[in-house]
Amino acid sequence: MNLILLGAPGSGKGTLAQLLSSELGVPHISPGDILREEVKKDSRLGKMAAPFMEKGELVPDVVMIKLMEQRMDEPDCEHGFILDGFPRTIPQAQQLDQFLSRSNKRIDFAVKFEVSEKCALKRLGGRRICSRCGADFNLYTKPPRKENVCDLCGGKLFQRKDDNEEVIYNRLKVYGEQTLPIEEYYNHQGKLLRINTENSPDMVLKEILEVLEA
Ligand code: ADP
Ligand code: ZN
Repeated sequence: MNLILLGAPGSGKGTLAQLLSSELGVPHISPGDILREEVKKDSRLGKMAAPFMEKGELVPDVVMIKLMEQRMDEPDCEHGFILDGFPRTIPQAQQLDQFLSRSNKRIDFAVKFEVSEKCALKRLGGRRICSRCGADFNLYTKPPRKENVCDLCGGKLFQRKDDNEEVIYNRLKVYGEQTLPIEEYYNHQGKLLRINTENSPDMVLKEILEVLEA
């Protein structure tokens, strides 16, 4: 199963991508995570991408397309994948279709995560991540037992650099301008599934699996 997850920042794509990945047995591919890892390593790609990410702007298409094609060429993608954050522009979507068709593959569904702006802002502003094990917390919906400390490993929690108010607003704006149009791209191909994601992750997972099996 080749899936794309679409939705504004804070729509819960990342959380659901992980659940779907273990449920369906295909890898979860998050360009955001890949880029953050490169920034951490201070690699050439990381140095190039960091200024865009810090402002909430998109990393240029040519870079992203090459990066993701390389990732999808890895053997673990043979029997499917879940793309969480790619494509994000029309050129990325077009290039992805071309790339897949060269190996007789295609996207099965694009799942759109619908969320109110109020809910998205709360999720992004409240997000805290463990610096040691990467576990996700949220001050409003899933607070750690002890302030700033990971429940699982005792690591220190941090806030993503782009989860501050000003950058959050820019990410939402960029989403509306550059990514929203690709919904129509997949709708036109008859592949768009809309899911309301304000319920708990387990309920959203159930709903998506039901739709995919139907
Ligand atoms: P979110 O969806 O919550 O904004 P991500 O972790 O998916 O966060 O992405 C973080 C940042 O990484 C984006 O703001 C952007 O700078 C960059 N990025 C991720 N995916 C893409 C993509 N497909 N094209 C261009 N830039 C991307
Ligand atoms: Zn931890």
